[in-house]
Amino acid sequence: MKFLLLSASALTALLATGALAEDKRQADAHQHGHGVLNVALEGGTLSIEMETPGADILGFEHIAETEDDKATVRQARETLGDPVALFGLAVAAGCDVTESEIEIGADEDDHDESHADKDDHDHEDGHDDKDDDDSHSEVHAHYTLTCSAPAKLTGLDLGAFFAAFPNAEELDAALLTDSGQAGGEITPASPTLAF
Ligand SMILES: [Zn+2]
Repeated sequence: MKFLLLSASALTALLATGALAEDKRQADAHQHGHGVLNVALEGGTLSIEMETPGADILGFEHIAETEDDKATVRQARETLGDPVALFGLAVAAGCDVTESEIEIGADEDDHDESHADKDDHDHEDGHDDKDDDDSHSEVHAHYTLTCSAPAKLTGLDLGAFFAAFPNAEELDAALLTDSGQAGGEITPASPTLAF
């Protein structure tokens, strides 16, 4: 796989010039199949943040109203609730999830919160725009894990992620550890990223 090693100054420049800020902006016009994954390991604390179009995780982005849609949301929430399995973290590293936050824009309960800062969503009017092709929503997942043997963490393996979410085509990953930074595209054909 192709690896892009970034120096600390390059990463700082990247952050400053807004490659990540651009990802945020593009949330308004995201590209289906393409998500972002930021991972940081500091001592025994592992932080994982993922942002993807709702279509990648659920297959749709409108507010879930039918029982089928709601079941899909529930299933996604359950799958996303197990980051150790989903991201292929070594069990020997003894990572326990101490914090997790999963926002699914298509879930009515999450929707208002995740789009609270957007003016172009007016779902308060009874959601009759749910079939509108312009109606996009995202899935955000944020985890903090505490690992008893972080040295056993050798990398990420997103085989299970791509198996669970076949609409996901790639995650643009950035990795920050005590020993440096790395990044790359994680795809079903190349699902691993070494720490
Ligand atoms: Zn979309």
